[in-house]
Amino acid sequence: MHLETLAIHAANHPDPITGDVAPPIHLTTTFARGSQGDLPSEFIYARTGNPTRAALEGALAQLEGGAVAFAFASGLAAIHAIFKMVEPGQHIIAPDDLYHGTRNLLLEFQRWGVEVGFVDIYNLETLAAAIQSNTRLIFIETPSNPMLKITDIRAVVGLAQAAGAQVAVDNTWATPVLQRPLELGADYVAHSSTKYFGGHSDVTGGAVICREDGTGAARLREVQNTLGAVPAPFDCWLIRRGLMTLPLRVRAHTAGAAQISGFLAAHGKVEVVHYPGLASHPGHAVAAGQMSGFGGMLSFRVQGEEEAAAAVMSRLQLITRATSLGGVESLIEHRYRVEGPHSRTPRNLLRLSVGLEHPDELIADLAQALGQPGML
Ligand SMILES: *Cc1c(COP(=O)(O)O)cnc(C)c1O
Repeated sequence: MHLETLAIHAANHPDPITGDVAPPIHLTTTFARGSQGDLPSEFIYARTGNPTRAALEGALAQLEGGAVAFAFASGLAAIHAIFKMVEPGQHIIAPDDLYHGTRNLLLEFQRWGVEVGFVDIYNLETLAAAIQSNTRLIFIETPSNPMLKITDIRAVVGLAQAAGAQVAVDNTWATPVLQRPLELGADYVAHSSTKYFGGHSDVTGGAVICREDGTGAARLREVQNTLGAVPAPFDCWLIRRGLMTLPLRVRAHTAGAAQISGFLAAHGKVEVVHYPGLASHPGHAVAAGQMSGFGGMLSFRVQGEEEAAAAVMSRLQLITRATSLGGVESLIEHRYRVEGPHSRTPRNLLRLSVGLEHPDELIADLAQALGQPGML
């Protein structure tokens, strides 16, 4: 099936008893047993599993092309579960440009005895040199946050397999509409469902999808149940509703970002645009080889210093100044100021999540905010 059809029909059938076309929300925390202690279905207790979450997990597995999926209360809870597959004394490799929350999470794992290397994995020689005999996991985020760096998923999988390590890809920014890591050989895909999956900036969630239902999946099931960072039924329901329009939304976000990246790249007050769809982007060729579109996220550096970027952002009228991404409304953020003094992000960088407004209005807003060349 095409993704558009799958998004609507995956794990979604009219209720056989009532005929409900829209699925119900199962709020129950527990499930009644019969007189002999027998259960009417697979469900026992809502942390372990409930029908609304199971429906979401079924849809996620199908959309990402995996064998099984696990939903979590946030993207970081999902990524946390992946890192929990690594034991103290084993080694995780992660990119040096990475969502700062994932970076902080890895520093937590370091405190508990897991070895962590932040490596320039965009350079495959550097990555190969960083692999150790105890390397258990290579974690990739492509396109990366906030620099939109591109990692060659196939090449990393090749290096990892040769070393007996597994590969997990944070596919939040690309989504399965544009990039299919499991088909490229990755073992796990992680998502912040808070972003494009929910798609309307009104629900927090995360997910891990596994290529195989093997020992890794068994461990994730155990971590999901034992650590208990599970999403509420209503949140599962909202995310699944978001998934139904995911292919359409992501294509529209991508078309808008392509147009805006072109406008910004040609603007005299913009130093550089980081968008993998631009031929000038260093990762363009690799992105073209593993993505069917370049996504709705971009960042750009304003000519000048931190203040110049802040000034441009302050003049925006339509585009909302807020953290997060992937919603219907365009959001912009001065990452350096948000990440704080330890940030490695360039100070004149603004990150833009292109929403579903008409690109003409977004470009007009950016044009008035950037102002004339020469103006601060
Ligand atoms: C937002 C984000 C996360 C974290 O997800 P939460 O739902 O906020 O916990 C992880 N990775 C990427 C790429 C993100 O954009």
